[in-house]
Amino acid sequence: MAVLLSTKASTMEDWRDALLEVDPSLEIRLFPEAGDPSDIEAAVCWTAHDLGELRRYPNLRLLVSMGAGVDHLLRPPGPPPGVPVARLVDERLTQGMTEWVLLNVLRFHRQDPEYRAQQSARLWHELPAPDTARRRIGILGLGALGGDAARALLALGFPVMGWSRRPKSLPGVESFHGDDGLAAILGRSDILVCLLPLTPETRGLLDAARLALLPAGAYLLNSARGGHMVAADVLAALDSGRLAGAALDVFEPEPLPPEHPFWTHPKVVLTPHAASITIPRSAAPQVVENIHRARAGLAPLNLVDLAAGY
Ligand code: NAP
Repeated sequence: MAVLLSTKASTMEDWRDALLEVDPSLEIRLFPEAGDPSDIEAAVCWTAHDLGELRRYPNLRLLVSMGAGVDHLLRPPGPPPGVPVARLVDERLTQGMTEWVLLNVLRFHRQDPEYRAQQSARLWHELPAPDTARRRIGILGLGALGGDAARALLALGFPVMGWSRRPKSLPGVESFHGDDGLAAILGRSDILVCLLPLTPETRGLLDAARLALLPAGAYLLNSARGGHMVAADVLAALDSGRLAGAALDVFEPEPLPPEHPFWTHPKVVLTPHAASITIPRSAAPQVVENIHRARAGLAPLNLVDLAAGY
């Protein structure tokens, strides 16, 4: 039985080597060289994969995302019926995201855009002291990534709030859920961080009506998915001053087209879906464990709830 890998050509061999390092007995095939379709027992995929193709493998018993998100595997036609889907929860992936969040929270909190502009103008001018204890951070999504970012921000002294689908209790984090909870957290977030999965419920969440609930001059960080934002509404909020700035890592479509106004907007700091990139050697042990679990008829670790969409 074989494992099919499907990702960008540039990382395919890293993934193969990392999996073989954990279990040299694995037979790994690199898409599109799948060989006999009936050999494939597990598919480990990133966004490029054509999901219809997965129905060609009659003995497939596990589908693994190469990242924390699974929206790319749940889009139509969805995973083959009956095949469990696992995602990654990985310490280094989580750390990478927390670093990106800290970088951008501190960038805005410490008035870095203003000081850089002053440096360009050779202007010696002290701005009002940033007050960490009064800069309220709201995190949409309090899962593996949002929860870790919340802990790191709390450790720096920021007041942290979080919003999740179900009621949640994280020490020190004021937690909200549901529609009322969303309005409440938005109304108090001086810096809003989106770390939600992209599902039918969360698509388009950051629209004009929701952005209008933020305190005037709030900042937006989105490193979840481009589909969470209505791009035109984010641009309008930046232009009106409702948003003082945005750090954006994810877009729809990706790559962001060269003519898109986000590229040149003076209030936007942009990264190319690079907030946290999976390190194959870090993720390989759990992927191999899931292959072993699938062979033993066990549910995989980090099993995706297909009904909830994440
Ligand atoms: P996770 O552990 O599944 O956490 C998701 C969180 O979102 C949970 O707290 C969940 O609530 C909440 N949530 C889901 N649907 C909701 C809804 N309708 N209303 C309110 N809250 C909702 O996911 P994760 O590992 O933290 O990853 C989050 C996302 O980050 C991924 O899906 C991916 O899209 C993105 N990501 C981006 C990058 C990048 O480089 N840009 C890298 C990795 C991941 P409950 O706690 O109640 O379940």
